[in-house]
Amino acid sequence: MWNRVNAVTANDMTKPAIPAVGIDLGTTFSVVARLDEHGQPTTLINAEGDRVTPSVVLFDADDIVIGKEALKAMATEAEHVAECSKRDIGHRVFHKVFQGRQYPPEVIEAWILDKVRSDAVQQIGDFSKVVITVPAYFDEVRRKATQDAGYMAGFEVLDIINEPTAAAVAFGFQQGFLDEAGGTREPRRILVYDLGGGTFDVTVMEIRGTEFIALATDGDVRLGGYDWDQRLVDLVAENFIREHYVDPREDPGTAGKLWRECEDAKRTLSARSKASVACDCRGFASRVEISKKQFEEATQDLLDRTRFTTEQTLKAAGLDWDNIERVLLVGGSTRMPMIRDMLRELSGKAPDASVAADEAVAHGAALRAGLLLAESLGEPPAFSIQNVNSHSLGVVGTDRLTNRRRNGILIPRNTPLPVTGKRTFTTSKAAQKSILVQIVEGESPSADDCTEIGKCTVRDLPPNLPMNSPVDVLFHYEPNGRLQVKVTVPKTDRTVETEIVRENSLSKEHMDGWRQYICGKEPTDYR
Ligand code: AMP
Repeated sequence: MWNRVNAVTANDMTKPAIPAVGIDLGTTFSVVARLDEHGQPTTLINAEGDRVTPSVVLFDADDIVIGKEALKAMATEAEHVAECSKRDIGHRVFHKVFQGRQYPPEVIEAWILDKVRSDAVQQIGDFSKVVITVPAYFDEVRRKATQDAGYMAGFEVLDIINEPTAAAVAFGFQQGFLDEAGGTREPRRILVYDLGGGTFDVTVMEIRGTEFIALATDGDVRLGGYDWDQRLVDLVAENFIREHYVDPREDPGTAGKLWRECEDAKRTLSARSKASVACDCRGFASRVEISKKQFEEATQDLLDRTRFTTEQTLKAAGLDWDNIERVLLVGGSTRMPMIRDMLRELSGKAPDASVAADEAVAHGAALRAGLLLAESLGEPPAFSIQNVNSHSLGVVGTDRLTNRRRNGILIPRNTPLPVTGKRTFTTSKAAQKSILVQIVEGESPSADDCTEIGKCTVRDLPPNLPMNSPVDVLFHYEPNGRLQVKVTVPKTDRTVETEIVRENSLSKEHMDGWRQYICGKEPTDYR
């Protein structure tokens, strides 16, 4: 069944073959995969000959360098290097300034995507249609920013899918669930524990033959291997300060090199009981030995945060560990033995590392791209994905008693998509002329602790509209993250319909400018 995309296009000589490409745009590393002529997902090798590309950008005096070379530059010129830009995505600008300029994080992500695109073109020829993955816990703002990055890198983004879902699809493919012969109708429930370089996601999935249904998802967009690195950096730095009264973290020339050394030591500690880190700074030098026990003690709270979230997610899915058939490990950081031990203890079963931790997500994305391309050629879908929303969506209302801004939730988190939610609010004053509807994303009852994702206004209300007149708000939320909002004031003819356009986002004009600059491609229609 998977051969069809390639088979149909390859046999029809009038149409060029369209490769099915998926990209895992990771915080620390990115991976590109395609479906080969047998419909098998395979990882593409980059220009440096590696399967993964560091998601790092170096702003050199007269050049922009992406990937391995940029990562190396962390050791000597960290101040010119943008690393972990995925963590800043959704913010207006990246937290560092380069040559007096601050870039939007999605522009930095676009450079990374452009690098992996041009490397892939060398192998499979020109292509533009891709599926890009995001953490399940990414909110609407971050999803849209990722899509924008894809556009600025010259892609036509077919879909943005959740990393754990992609991993589950790759797992299902590997297990033969997606073949007509191997497919099973018996539901299998798996928990995907995905700890990458910068983000943590946990998702409970049900696989029913070729249907992949997310039951609950949770996570932390600021928790990943990078935080474990940081703890090692702190351990070494504290040791260095005790010996030499100098803090190597404060020396820009040393900090980047120290971080690289620590990241290396962390990997060593996944295989050995101790590792050593060399540090020299301002004429002083030390070699610090760190034991696995010390490392695990220093990072215990990070582990506990993932444990707590994992338990909460299982609870949100209404399940317990007996209902979970497998705990699937995804993301490079799940190689740390402390993660595996914790999950074994928690679930009572050995975690499953059968999918390639670094590559499964890109493979799932390529399978999804194959599905979408086949569908566009009139093929029946080979599998389906059902997602849930990872954050509640609501409207800001005012509490009459306290006068505080409250979050009136219309669509609670973990609701299967697509979904329509409706709620009735009331006007706060007599003879109100207009109604401002502010749409927020988040769990807190206080609107101030949530993220505003858009707003719309109902104007020209009829005169003398009494106080407490009903205002119906309707949300329709699609699996692609698009939110349609309809506000109606019953007993009047006033209705406003809008699709949420992200505040803070780059204008189409800006994006077209960046697209030209980054990849030299002409503007196209873009949502
Ligand atoms: P990913 O985003 O899935 O590519 O994961 C990257 C993260 O995995 C980085 O923080 C790496 O330092 C971490 N990582 C990769 N291999 C290992 C290993 N053997 N032990 C510990 N962490 C690792």
